[in-house]
Amino acid sequence: MHRVIIGNGISGSHAARVLRERDPGSQITIISAGALLFYNRYDLPDVFRGRCDWTDYLVYPPAYYEENKIKLRRKSLVTEVNTNKRTLTLAHREVVTYDQLLVATGGVAYVPERLLDSIPLMHNFNNFRVAMAMRDALPDGGVVIMLGGDALGLDLARTLINTKHKVILIAGDRTFWPHEITQETRPRFLQALEKMHIEVIDDKQVDRVEHSNGTGPARRVVFDDGSDLAADVVMPFYGLSPSVDFMSHAGIDIERGILVNPQLQTTRDDIWAAGDVCQIWSPEHNAYRFYYGWKNVKMMGDVAARNMTGDDVSFTTAVDEILQLKPDGTIYSPFWEYD
Ligand SMILES: Cc1cc2nc3c(=O)[nH]c(=O)nc-3n(C[C@H](O)[C@H](O)[C@H](O)COP(=O)(O)OP(=O)(O)OC[C@H]3O[C@@H](n4cnc5c(N)ncnc54)[C@H](O)[C@@H]3O)c2cc1C
Repeated sequence: MHRVIIGNGISGSHAARVLRERDPGSQITIISAGALLFYNRYDLPDVFRGRCDWTDYLVYPPAYYEENKIKLRRKSLVTEVNTNKRTLTLAHREVVTYDQLLVATGGVAYVPERLLDSIPLMHNFNNFRVAMAMRDALPDGGVVIMLGGDALGLDLARTLINTKHKVILIAGDRTFWPHEITQETRPRFLQALEKMHIEVIDDKQVDRVEHSNGTGPARRVVFDDGSDLAADVVMPFYGLSPSVDFMSHAGIDIERGILVNPQLQTTRDDIWAAGDVCQIWSPEHNAYRFYYGWKNVKMMGDVAARNMTGDDVSFTTAVDEILQLKPDGTIYSPFWEYD
């Protein structure tokens, strides 16, 4: 039995661990586009507290993979899945066969169409390498403009403020994503951000990002009305798009994410999906839903691995999705919590 997992984030890595515990004899391969071993992305704001060695973020020691007979293929991008032949094709044309497949490819930062040309001038924060690049671009006491303001961005904003940087948020309909906020409560949550010392601009639409002229901050955010604002770093935080392109000819059902039943099985009985890449059928909502956050995603890895090895368990949400207003007037997101 060769079980292949695509993706070494929390869902794929946890699934591998559970698969190994439940079936000591099977062959397990994790295939990952990234170059690093599994590390804790949620701790990445710590690069601003001087934690700049990537091995400090490792969840398992490097020897873990060999000790547990888990083969990890890094820097290997899966470009195609042939479900009839049960094969994967990697970008360098190698073909890998599987008996069971778990797709755990997560998502990438979503950027609205109008800002696509500005991508080269913006910084991301979704892996160690780009987090370090962003840190290097930001001088002490420097200014960050955050566009959108999803929950990951707001988590980073808290650290940036604590480490004496200035954060300006250009708010919009993706602010607080993936939390859903009503129009009535939105002003109170925006006020809470101000209380957290985030400067909020809520009445402007960004048109583009440009290089600054001459000395001073490196970037300029230009608004629809022609006005602009300077910053050292500009970051898009508009939420996620699931990484599913390589599955588009695989013959399984995909809406925005890979559609799975509560057991996390796709429309093929030898393929499962877990983590940010999948939309899970919720009888309660009568819809396929995304469930974000460390605890939910880890739970999905657990459920998928159990069902791949003969159980019949359903995913139940492990974290409350409600954004909270704390007594001191600031906000708290349950998505900021992990263990
Ligand atoms: C911009 C952004 C904002 C986020 N905001 C929040 C938030 O506010 N709150 C929250 O709880 N969570 C947030 N998350 C998500 C959080 O990081 C996840 O819930 C969790 O890390 C997802 O785990 P995962 O295992 O599904 O995927 P990931 O941790 O994303 O891992 C995916 C893995 O798949 C690999 N991969 C992708 N495509 C391929 C391919 N074709 N071939 C091979 N390997 C591939 C990647 O290299 C990676 O190893 C955010 C993530 C991003 C990127």
